[in-house]
Amino acid sequence: MTFNELGLDHELLKAIETLGFVQPSPIQEKAIPVLLSGERDFVGLAQTGTGKTAAFGLPLLQQLDIFNPTVQGIILCPTRELCMQITKDLQVFAKYKGAVHIVPVYGGVSISNQIRDLKRGAHIVVATPGRLLDHIERGTIKLNTVRFAILDEADEMLNMGFQDDINDILSQTTKDKHVWLFSATMPKEVEQIARKYMNNPERITIGKVNATAENLEHQFCVVSAKDMNKVLARFIDYYPEMYGILFCRTKRDTQELANKLMKDGYNVDALHGDLSQQQRDTVMNRFRTRNIQMLIATDVAARGIDVNDVTHVLHLNLPDDSENYTHRSGRTARAGKSGISLVIINSRETGKLRSLEGRIGKKFKKVMVPTGKEICEKQLFSLIDSINNAEVDEAAVATYMHKVFTEFEKFSKEELIKRLISVEFNRYLKLYGKAPDLNLSDSGKNGDRRDKREGTQDRSEVSNELFINVGAMDVNDKSGFLAFLCDVSGVSGRDIGRINLKDSYSFFGVEDVEAANKIIKSLNGEEIEGRKIRVEFSGGAGSGNSGNSNNKGGGGFKSKGRGFDKSKQRSGGRDFNRSSGTKKNYSRGR
Ligand code: ADP
Ligand code: MG
Repeated sequence: MTFNELGLDHELLKAIETLGFVQPSPIQEKAIPVLLSGERDFVGLAQTGTGKTAAFGLPLLQQLDIFNPTVQGIILCPTRELCMQITKDLQVFAKYKGAVHIVPVYGGVSISNQIRDLKRGAHIVVATPGRLLDHIERGTIKLNTVRFAILDEADEMLNMGFQDDINDILSQTTKDKHVWLFSATMPKEVEQIARKYMNNPERITIGKVNATAENLEHQFCVVSAKDMNKVLARFIDYYPEMYGILFCRTKRDTQELANKLMKDGYNVDALHGDLSQQQRDTVMNRFRTRNIQMLIATDVAARGIDVNDVTHVLHLNLPDDSENYTHRSGRTARAGKSGISLVIINSRETGKLRSLEGRIGKKFKKVMVPTGKEICEKQLFSLIDSINNAEVDEAAVATYMHKVFTEFEKFSKEELIKRLISVEFNRYLKLYGKAPDLNLSDSGKNGDRRDKREGTQDRSEVSNELFINVGAMDVNDKSGFLAFLCDVSGVSGRDIGRINLKDSYSFFGVEDVEAANKIIKSLNGEEIEGRKIRVEFSGGAGSGNSGNSNNKGGGGFKSKGRGFDKSKQRSGGRDFNRSSGTKKNYSRGR
């Protein structure tokens, strides 16, 4: 099957050719003809990295009426990064189509620039749900002309707590539009959206749902928690060609680990929601241009990132659910390339690993932490490789060669090679010459089986509602609140139930005691706007109904806390931030 046979018009085919796409991917082959007909709702399930953007982007572009300046297509996606990426991809596809206006709108940045862009006209709006709602409420985007509503990474959007927003948005579109939903996995929440907002959709599933790519190798390695940093350094040193993403659970872990590794001279950096938008862009650019070898990221921050040729995804902990794992590991082995997904666990987690194996239907291969000797050898051969493959700029070196030869005259060829090699190699010998073996058996040897949960409560004595002294004044709105909760505590948005957001405090439901305890443990003592976060089971002592007068009065806005002041950007294009520094503004006109 070729792109020509799918019914795409000349301008799009030309763009595809320029991109060097030779053959449509399976999801493209199946989806494009259906979507081009413009007659069906559509559910497309395919793993990450299988070309879903073009699968919906090309048919959407073909059906636009360029001379009609209204919004004809909206594309909803979970994060700012993805929003920008889809916009960029679509602009490339539309290159020969004349003036197609594709405007990205996402949270966490000033809304006025977006309003200006929208005023110039938009055929397609690519949006994160929260920010799209803002625009709808301000009247800067109208949905009544939308003919195609596309949900990309639907499962992720729901994971991040966008369910209400998506419902809101879809219910404001007209009856005769079509909904195209794309997802890597099909949890029941996605099915609900399909049932509620779609009309007898055509369903296409490529491969096994919830599966990970075929060319992805799953590995695990059992180490002692205290050796984690050393172990990571070893893997990086063992794979000189590694270009990877490492996932940590919390922002704090992410930053601390990055700091440690950077201090030891590794080319890594952290990506998480505590960084400003600009910092995040800088980190992502440095990663894309390979100035960073490894990105250390939280789940939320790295969601949906499409960077080519990532060789390794590393997990410093087991993700909470198999879908999360699928999404993380889907950052590698993209577009037919191969990749490694390596889980580094302690012996207590081996049981959890087995159950993950069952759910993704793949076996994890046990690998050992490279020994010092193995690393030295690997580095030596990598050095030889790079000497072999070095490009010599004859003209540039010519001027120095005479002097260089004179300097080295005294050495025999063998002696010279030895010295050349040693320049680099000594570093690794020094680091690893006497390094111990860091491998643990996975049988639980010296594993502390009991998980001591200090300060947490037993199921029997709790309600499943929590109180927190964080409210709309800190996080803007419910989706901001959710993103904040998930980002700081590492729990999944699905574990959070109903949210009752007040000005300076909130109540929220939690799915189970484990999630509740995790939130309590990770949030208590953190700071927001310069004051200490307090979170506890509601109904317990000081359930917070009495007004929390200590939070009022705006003092919190001025002090610079560690975490969440307004100058800092949150995760993935979600807007927890007030759009300006004044207190009244948190409601953004709602
Ligand atoms: P998904 O949304 O399914 O995760 P993307 O649409 O981001 O995947 O595509 C993944 C990568 O594959 C992108 O870099 C894209 O440019 C590339 N790609 C998409 N379609 C093709 C194709 N038909 N041939 C070659 N590469 C493709
Ligand atoms: Mg995609």
